[in-house]
Amino acid sequence: MVGLGVAGMSAAVRLLKAGWEPVIVERAPRRRTGGHFIGLFAEGRKAAAELGVLDLMHLRTPLSHRAVAVGEDGTRSTSTGFLDRPGNPDALLRGDVEAALWTAVDGRVEVRFDTTPVHIDARVDGASVALHDAERDYTENFYLVVGADGIRSTVRRLVFGPDERFLRPMHIVSWTFQLDEQVPSYGPAEQIMAVQPRRALWILPFADLPPAAFFLYRTRKVRDELAADPADRLPLRFEGMNGGGAVAHALAELNRRPDLIVDAAEQVRMPTWHRDRVVLVGDAAWCMSAYGAMGVTTGLQGALALGDALTADPRSIPTALANYERHLRPVMRSHQRWARLLSQIYVPSNRPAARLRATALAAITNRRLKAVATHRPDRLGR
Ligand SMILES: Cc1cc2nc3c(=O)[nH]c(=O)nc-3n(C[C@H](O)[C@H](O)[C@H](O)COP(=O)(O)OP(=O)(O)OC[C@H]3O[C@@H](n4cnc5c(N)ncnc54)[C@H](O)[C@@H]3O)c2cc1C
Repeated sequence: MVGLGVAGMSAAVRLLKAGWEPVIVERAPRRRTGGHFIGLFAEGRKAAAELGVLDLMHLRTPLSHRAVAVGEDGTRSTSTGFLDRPGNPDALLRGDVEAALWTAVDGRVEVRFDTTPVHIDARVDGASVALHDAERDYTENFYLVVGADGIRSTVRRLVFGPDERFLRPMHIVSWTFQLDEQVPSYGPAEQIMAVQPRRALWILPFADLPPAAFFLYRTRKVRDELAADPADRLPLRFEGMNGGGAVAHALAELNRRPDLIVDAAEQVRMPTWHRDRVVLVGDAAWCMSAYGAMGVTTGLQGALALGDALTADPRSIPTALANYERHLRPVMRSHQRWARLLSQIYVPSNRPAARLRATALAAITNRRLKAVATHRPDRLGR
């Protein structure tokens, strides 16, 4: 297993249960914690329950949240936000999911930190992997190699080809971090959406933490944006935008944030996820970008499906891997299409798209509020 993220740990937990002896190699010197805001959907909760980790997961969904849309003129209106999406996503940090999985991995699975593959010789009966760690280079044979090393997967590059062949840019850059406190004049469980053509700020609430700020904008010059200092670049990109006070509040906190996470939205599209005894799972195989908000859910779900397929056909790895792909490929392709569409909800690409977005959200919100008023007056928003 390469990668100690959601997909890698989930695959290890599933295979351990099936009697395998997984080894995880992780490039980082230690397990990471924290991470960005995550919506965990019903399929992800189901997969986590099957892996035996759902009860270990610290969910941070506010009990009665409300989404507030802030217009360009500063007017505020109730809207339909992230946590109102079908599938009732729970709010948590990526680190909360990883911490739960780690409880199932720690002491049961061999984990080698500071270690990365530098060469992989994939064969029909196994794979020789040249590994590099802080002290030495060595080669080891494995029965199966699972590449769960994220969007810029080394396993994918070594076995399937260079990133350029598989990465599809979406021309959106985002910067996200935890605020010290909610934007003044908003309730702690209010989600704020300040959305304009080509730029947006979302403030996403938690039950027991200050909210997360999610700045995003569209650009054709992604590389330049990533190379720039966010303390210079974000005020420039959000110049003249007030967002009901949210923009100034979040920008004021920007310099104090060690946990700033930058993302250049990309999708991974591959004709196949396996070759001989090497298989990819999670973002390495099907990254759909932050805008589907399904990467963690599908990381859990996909790793579980991989383990299930290998357990169903333990004597024929090619059949198991072919079944794994046949089962998951349509699901992931559909999530990727949705992610492209949903990116227009997060940050519309032009003014007509922004108008269409506003009209669609207003209609959805009216219908939802009517349904809530009629059937569930005590649970606005859920
Ligand atoms: C801003 C943002 C918001 C998001 N919101 C959501 C959301 O609401 N809901 C949701 O489900 N998803 C969301 N996602 C996506 C989600 O975070 C990812 O899809 C998911 O974390 C991917 O998990 P993974 O295990 O496949 O890969 P990763 O999390 O990337 O883990 C890969 C691991 O492999 C390690 N690694 C990398 N290279 C090597 C190497 N060469 N050797 C050894 N180890 C290596 C890395 O250090 C890491 O530990 C969001 C993403 C972003 C950026």
